[in-house]
Amino acid sequence: MKQWQGQALAPGIAAGEVFFYRRPDRTGLPTAQEPGEEWARFERAAATVREQRLALAQKAREEADPAAAEIFEIHAMLVEDEDFQEQVHEAVLAGAGAAEAAARAGKEFSEQFAAMDDEYFRQRAVDFADIADALCAVLNHEEDRLAALDRPVILAAEELTPSETIRVPRRFILGFITQLGSQNSHTAILARTLGVPALSGVPVEPGWNGRPGMLDAGTGAFCLEPDEAQLERARQFAEQAKREQCELERLKDRETRTGDGRKIQIFANAASLEDVCNAAESGAEGIGLFRTEFLYLAGGAAPTEEEQFLVYKSAVQAMGGRPVVLRTLDIGADKQVDYLDLPREENPAMGLRAIRLCFARPGLFLDQLRAMLRAGAFGPVRIMFPMIASEQELDRALELLEQAKEQLRSAGTAFGLDQVGIMVETPAAAVMSDVLAKKVDFFSIGTNDLTQYTLAADRQNPAVTAGMDPHDPAVLRLIRRTVENAHNSGIWAGICGELGADTALLPLFLEMGVDELSVTVPRVLPLRKAVLEM
Ligand code: PEP
Ligand code: MG
Repeated sequence: MKQWQGQALAPGIAAGEVFFYRRPDRTGLPTAQEPGEEWARFERAAATVREQRLALAQKAREEADPAAAEIFEIHAMLVEDEDFQEQVHEAVLAGAGAAEAAARAGKEFSEQFAAMDDEYFRQRAVDFADIADALCAVLNHEEDRLAALDRPVILAAEELTPSETIRVPRRFILGFITQLGSQNSHTAILARTLGVPALSGVPVEPGWNGRPGMLDAGTGAFCLEPDEAQLERARQFAEQAKREQCELERLKDRETRTGDGRKIQIFANAASLEDVCNAAESGAEGIGLFRTEFLYLAGGAAPTEEEQFLVYKSAVQAMGGRPVVLRTLDIGADKQVDYLDLPREENPAMGLRAIRLCFARPGLFLDQLRAMLRAGAFGPVRIMFPMIASEQELDRALELLEQAKEQLRSAGTAFGLDQVGIMVETPAAAVMSDVLAKKVDFFSIGTNDLTQYTLAADRQNPAVTAGMDPHDPAVLRLIRRTVENAHNSGIWAGICGELGADTALLPLFLEMGVDELSVTVPRVLPLRKAVLEM
């Protein structure tokens, strides 16, 4: 038995046959006979790869993975990229074979893009490597070892590209071990989506292929030829996890009702499209909070209306008719971006944050509102404003929303809106909730900020939050008041802060008549189970 230490990317324990995967080695490819013929072969291969990528995009959409679908659509475009094809053509004219020319161009483009400042372009480096690889596979008539997998294995690889992750037959994967890869690598994301363990930082070797292995994300260890005691541990873990998951899975399509008939909806919080896709599969009844900031924090510039529209539309489509609450930009405080050039503030948590920033930059706000409204033409979109502290602020936000609608109308662009609501996360909003309730369709209580502002305790500062009662009565009173005022005006009220997942408070929330709890995806089914058992 030999053991290596890695880094856990996804939790769990798995044991089974190791399947070592390496992208085919393309050095020493045969040179061409005749440039005209090699170029024709390349063109045919490019058309095949384009078709393959479009088929993968279609498959990804069917599996409710719009983020992956978009990547494959980009691949279908890149394989026809003029500059890329020009480079291949030049190499072919200079005497290279089609596959060699494609491999070289892929490598050069990949290196050029990897060196770029812009995050979006840097990400294209792996895409060029990926399509060059696919071109070579087609040109060399290589068998797709990944897609041909037909038994459960631990997949060992240096790292997997996006198209490799989608070709992996998901039902046969027990776990992943990779040499490279970080928390956000494609392999890590796939592992979390599949609910299988993953380790990175393990120096994988071809000699492991076909041999028994075991990976334990709890200890971060991978061992080859594990002994009986280790295998027993893996078996016990698997049985326990299976029992728990099976029990939870049965609740996926159940309505969330207590034994005596009280109804509460369980929605999921999401901070990326990935989360939305997981939520769609988890049995969540909707997305209760889509934190759209990730779109603004990722790049060196604000996302365009079009870029946002594609993301929101994908989210709505992934949820297949279930409501999606899109929260407008909540940036500022601890979430800063350089390109907005915001002034330094003494108290950023009480500064130009969220809706206040949107009022200061109406162009930025209107771009986002139009993108959200346009996504609303594809399913039930609910728009939610964060950090509202007064009736005037709500009026201003609603005015700008009307302006965005008017802009779309005059451009003849289709849009839709199911509901509009606010986060109740300032004490002022909770106190004034009777007034605010008359102007919106719902309240979603943000207990993270509501607690911070009610108790005057910075949520980022452990020195002031450590000894605090997470169930502080002042906060609970504000929640009760907000729910009561919502109901008096005939609108619904939910909780999307972390307190919503606290099962100790569940009886109280039910007694208050809270209509919805929006929690992280892995908490959806355990929370539903808790409700059903009440
Ligand atoms: C909250 O404040 O409770 C909330 C859900 O929003 P965020 O954590 O994104 O500030
Ligand atoms: Mg908040």
